[in-house]
Amino acid sequence: MGMFEGKKGLILGVANERSIAWAIAKQVMDEGGRCGFSHLPDRPDDDKNRNRRRVERCLKGYEESAPILVPLDVRSDEQIQQVVDAVVAELGQLDFVLHSIAFADRDDLNRDTVETSRDGFKMAMEISAYSLIAVSNAVRPHMAPQGSILTMTYFGGEKCVPGYNVMGICKAALEASVRYLAYDLGPEGTRVNAISAGPLKTLAGSAAGVGEMLKMYKDIAPMARNVTHEEVGRSGAFLLSSCSDGITGEVLHVDAGYNMMGSPGRLLDKMSDSEK
Ligand code: NDP
Repeated sequence: MGMFEGKKGLILGVANERSIAWAIAKQVMDEGGRCGFSHLPDRPDDDKNRNRRRVERCLKGYEESAPILVPLDVRSDEQIQQVVDAVVAELGQLDFVLHSIAFADRDDLNRDTVETSRDGFKMAMEISAYSLIAVSNAVRPHMAPQGSILTMTYFGGEKCVPGYNVMGICKAALEASVRYLAYDLGPEGTRVNAISAGPLKTLAGSAAGVGEMLKMYKDIAPMARNVTHEEVGRSGAFLLSSCSDGITGEVLHVDAGYNMMGSPGRLLDKMSDSEK
């Protein structure tokens, strides 16, 4: 019997087959879980419904496990409520919720943090941090007795990672939200955790400059390599499952150990070799 047999949940943040949310959702569904999915609403003038179709392409072959796909822009409380209502009507009580959503204006990511625009800051924070709070509040009455909420973060929320800029500030707020939500929802049996993933090639990842990071991580991480989508998927499934039932308010690093290094390690050796 699969780890998620009889379990149901909501997956937010699949854009395509490279999305971290998809890597986690696949693990969950392969272990017997059933999921409701969302896609970014299509513009009224997009008669091809590109956003919806991108997610539909992922779900091909998973129709039994993924019976519902609904539009969601997390800037709208009304849409959040509609999504939760629709998914609960289809699946019943929720055992797990994955929030895998972030956005910042490219101009704000590209300029020095000190020059971040007021509107850009508000938007990035609203989509990337506040939305976890709004979603958690909306699903709260529908969580099964031992439910799990999981979000995705990055090391740039703990330490300064030049280039990650305003998104680093959002991730710091997101990680703090995880702890406060874990406190609020703990007595109801709902756990709230985050995964801090190493760089992965995705749409959001490219906007945040993942290309250069991949090389640096390989040189510095103790495992001397990058993590894979599958590894993050498995850890995500673990935190969404009852196998992690004593864990809450936690930020689990799935980054080949990069975050625990106190020096550039082998990269330093490489640099001194090149100076020889
Ligand atoms: P993706 O681009 O695949 O996923 C980001 C998702 O956020 C997309 O589905 C996107 O929808 C959605 N989104 C953006 N704005 C909104 C909105 N207003 N309402 C609803 N959904 C929205 O990239 P990732 O899988 O990389 O990103 C998922 C999470 O993982 C993010 O929080 C990211 O910061 C985090 N992360 C990523 C890392 C990486 O290296 N890739 C490393 C560590 C953390 P759409 O594309 O349709 O606009």
